[in-house]
Amino acid sequence: MADQLAKIYKRIEVTCPARSADIVTMACHEMGTLGIEENVAPKRRVRIVAYFDRGTNVAQLKKKIERITPGYTQIEFAILEEPRGLDTWLEEFNRRQVPVEIGSRFLVSPVESVRSEARIVLVVPAERAFGTGTHVTTRQCMEAIETLVRPGHTVLDLGTGTGILAMAAARLGASRVDAVDRDQEAVEIARGNVARNELGRTVRVIHGDITAAPHPPYDLIAANLLADAIVGLVPDMVAILRRSGSLVLSGILKGPQATRVVRSLQQNGIWQISRVREGEWVTLVGDRRNPSATRSPRDIPRDPNH
Ligand code: SAH
Repeated sequence: MADQLAKIYKRIEVTCPARSADIVTMACHEMGTLGIEENVAPKRRVRIVAYFDRGTNVAQLKKKIERITPGYTQIEFAILEEPRGLDTWLEEFNRRQVPVEIGSRFLVSPVESVRSEARIVLVVPAERAFGTGTHVTTRQCMEAIETLVRPGHTVLDLGTGTGILAMAAARLGASRVDAVDRDQEAVEIARGNVARNELGRTVRVIHGDITAAPHPPYDLIAANLLADAIVGLVPDMVAILRRSGSLVLSGILKGPQATRVVRSLQQNGIWQISRVREGEWVTLVGDRRNPSATRSPRDIPRDPNH
């Protein structure tokens, strides 16, 4: 059938050292992966399977992955005709996923049937957008958000993906959350998740960039993008941040990237900077207030080099 013939995807399978898994999945997300799965492989390796639209330049992606994981990576390509379609694959993937606990407050589940007395349940199935809680940067942002959002706060989630951070803020009592994404497909997915989690009264999902943020100033702005994008956006974020507000910035690799973001925060008057690092990834929390007001025990202040 014609619509089935149209369903041709490219699949790339990458086997690489476990410590490189995050940068490989991030590279796949940057290239617009439609779905990604990570499994443990022998010898402390992982096997990452990612699907792409037929138009994606996977050769370019391959070069990039070889560059970031020098010497150790085995990459296979396949061009698939999937009679059952990618959506079936995503459904099966969601059925196999287990709910994950994040921070001390959240339980993120791919399916709606999960209940918890102790934790706030967010239903976020794996779809064609980034942010299901499985990536360390999303987790770090959620952990920061749970220490910062107070009832009545207004929040901007810049680059919302699935909407996960926006929904977390809403469930912590934020009175209004604006979730912005420049990718129309992410916007649709985030809207679906907001409806699924019955948060439509608090969270508004908007297609656009930071200039589309409709209700400045904000008590909290979260941006889990990449370091280069963040550096360019810091002045605009600070301009729409309430004086007592906080920035939560992630998608930043430790080392020079973190240093650049810290410098740009300081140049824009954000002097209280705390950081959380896990593996390669750093999340920075910046504000203008007394640092004891926002620091969580795991934070290490003002040392961008680790
Ligand atoms: N907030 C989610 C998703 C992060 S992925 C999480 O923490 O898991 C980053 C998202 O930001 C993508 O959906 C991408 O489309 C969007 N994005 C990247 N740069 C952007 C920009 N300058 N303005 C708006 N959205 C942006």
